[in-house]
Amino acid sequence: MKIICIGRNYADHAKELNNPLPKAPMFFLKPDTALLIDNDPFYIPEFSNDIHYECELVFKINRVGKNIAEKFAPKYYAEIGLGVDFTARDLQQQCKEQGTPWEIAKGFDNSAVISKFIPLESLNNKENIEFRLDLNGQTVQTGKSENMIFNVNQLIAYISQFITLKTGDLIFTGTPAGVGAVKIGDRLQGYLEDRLMYDFEIK
Ligand code: ZN
Repeated sequence: MKIICIGRNYADHAKELNNPLPKAPMFFLKPDTALLIDNDPFYIPEFSNDIHYECELVFKINRVGKNIAEKFAPKYYAEIGLGVDFTARDLQQQCKEQGTPWEIAKGFDNSAVISKFIPLESLNNKENIEFRLDLNGQTVQTGKSENMIFNVNQLIAYISQFITLKTGDLIFTGTPAGVGAVKIGDRLQGYLEDRLMYDFEIK
C-alpha cells in the first residue's frame, strides 16, 4: 500500500505557513514504514528539533482505479479515519529553500499516524465532516471537510491521472490551521465528530 498526502488543502493553513494557494492539488508520498497505529507512542527522532503535528482526515481506497472521473470517485472509498501527518518542519524548510524533495521531512518512520477506520455512513454528516485535535486536553486544530480547497473526489480524480490507486491505499487530505510542535510528554487526542479516534503520547 501507499500513503498519499495532500499539501496546502486548507486556505487557513496555507496562510499560516505563508504558502500560496494551489491551483491544482499538490501531493507527496510516504512509504508504508511511516505508519504508526494502535495508539502507539511517537518517539521524537534525533534528526529534527521541530516536529509538527498536522491532524488530517484520511480516506481508505477500496478498489483499484486509474484515471477515475470525479463523478465516479465515491465508488472508490467507503471508510474514513483520522491521522497525523508528522512533519519535520525544520528539514522541510531546508528542502523548500533548496528546492529538493520533501521525503526526509515527511516520510520518516512513524510519521503517518492513523486511527481505526469507520464507515463513512456512520458519520452524522458525511457531507461536512468535522474533526479536531486536542493537545494535552486543549483543542489546537479544528477542521471541516467543506473547507478543503479540493474535496476527496477531486483529489482522487487528480491523483489517479498519475498514479494507479490500489485497495488499501490511504489519502491524507491536508491539515487546517493550528499546526505546532510536539515535545516529550505531550498527549494527542483526535476526534472525528465527537468520536475519539486516537489517543497517544509523544516520547
Ligand atoms: Zn499534512
